[in-house]
Amino acid sequence: MLSDRDRIFTNLYGMHECSLAGARRRGHWDGTADFMAKGRDWIIDQVKKSGLRGRGGAGFPTGLKWSFMPRKSDGRPHYLVVNADESEPGTCKDREIMRHDPHTLIEGCLLAGFAMGSETGYIYIRGEFIRERQLLQRAMDEAYASGLLGRNAAGSGWDFDLYLHHGAGAYICGEETALLESLEGKKGMPRMKPPFPAAIGLWGCPTTVNNVESIAVVPTILRRGASWFADLGSKNSTGTKIFAISGHVNSPCVVEEEMAISLRELIDKHCGGVRGGWNNLKAVIPGGSSVPLLPKRLCDNALMEFGWLSENGSGLGTAAVIVMDQSTDVIKAIWRLSKFYKHESCGQCTPCREGAGWMMRVMERLVQGDADISEIDMLYDVSKQVEGHTICALGDAAAWPIQGLIRHFRDEMEDRIKTGRWNVDRIAA
Ligand code: SF4
Repeated sequence: MLSDRDRIFTNLYGMHECSLAGARRRGHWDGTADFMAKGRDWIIDQVKKSGLRGRGGAGFPTGLKWSFMPRKSDGRPHYLVVNADESEPGTCKDREIMRHDPHTLIEGCLLAGFAMGSETGYIYIRGEFIRERQLLQRAMDEAYASGLLGRNAAGSGWDFDLYLHHGAGAYICGEETALLESLEGKKGMPRMKPPFPAAIGLWGCPTTVNNVESIAVVPTILRRGASWFADLGSKNSTGTKIFAISGHVNSPCVVEEEMAISLRELIDKHCGGVRGGWNNLKAVIPGGSSVPLLPKRLCDNALMEFGWLSENGSGLGTAAVIVMDQSTDVIKAIWRLSKFYKHESCGQCTPCREGAGWMMRVMERLVQGDADISEIDMLYDVSKQVEGHTICALGDAAAWPIQGLIRHFRDEMEDRIKTGRWNVDRIAA
């Protein structure tokens, strides 16, 4: 269990002041210019050595991503873009950073921007986060008024401007290239890659898009040292992580914990256990709604890290843990996610546009038991034709929950069909 002295986010619950004065008392903005004086390469090297992997879902090594930015400008400006469009069902961790500990993010933006040669940063915040937007803007205004942003930011000699941009409520704008399109004032539709944003990103300029948490942990990594961060967690999943646990637990919560904590410890220690006890557990979605669920037998030994979860057919994703007890109609739960992804598809590639809707409609009949058993295999085949054949990862996100359901709860699906259990009323509800 993470000790208090190793916590990065010391105001996650808003028990203390989120103002600049409060943030300074908690150690933020301490020696920022000194880190910058050590140079861009030093900062990138420290982030690489810390083993930090992106906290937005894909888990790509953050320092490596930064190193893809050109060393020298060819005349085009460089941009840092922070993805604060947190919209994945079950995920609500960045929200707590922005409303209670915003200076961790703002200081991180300055350091990351400097490391990438960027004098301008944008934070793209989810449109529905109205209160968070106000609090974050207030914190940015305070930083400007105190000389921490703008010309000669924090006395470093580096000019850095930061802008807060509001989204309009489309889930797909959380995909990095759709986010860039939206930031440019266009419809939020993902771009083909390559070219990657580090070569051609915002307004055709070198750009790095990072998740809120990935940026917000950087100042503390530099302050406490890369080896401190690397010593927490496990070999390929270092440091601390904010977990958001919802569903059938006694006390749903958002908590910072050490990477590679066991799922059971996470739930028992921080959430008061599964409703009705551990043996009442049916399944867990461990990383936000897009990753395949794990049945209880796998949850018994699950570790909350990139390696274990991918080896066992799921993923850490955003570390949003959705707990389902025995009372859950798991087929209906996954149908509901299918409905979400079908609704959020931008529609520009055929496997996603047609496949997401087709899968949702078959799932709808499977909830009612109004299907043929052979359709389960057909559904699995179609999900495989969607997976990996689309412009962005939304196609995968639509396919994976269904694949997890078929892998682990096929018996339940077949039983539903055999008994022809009609649940029209429950669907309508
Ligand atoms: Fe749009 Fe879906 Fe294709 Fe992504 S996978 S670009 S959301 S149609």
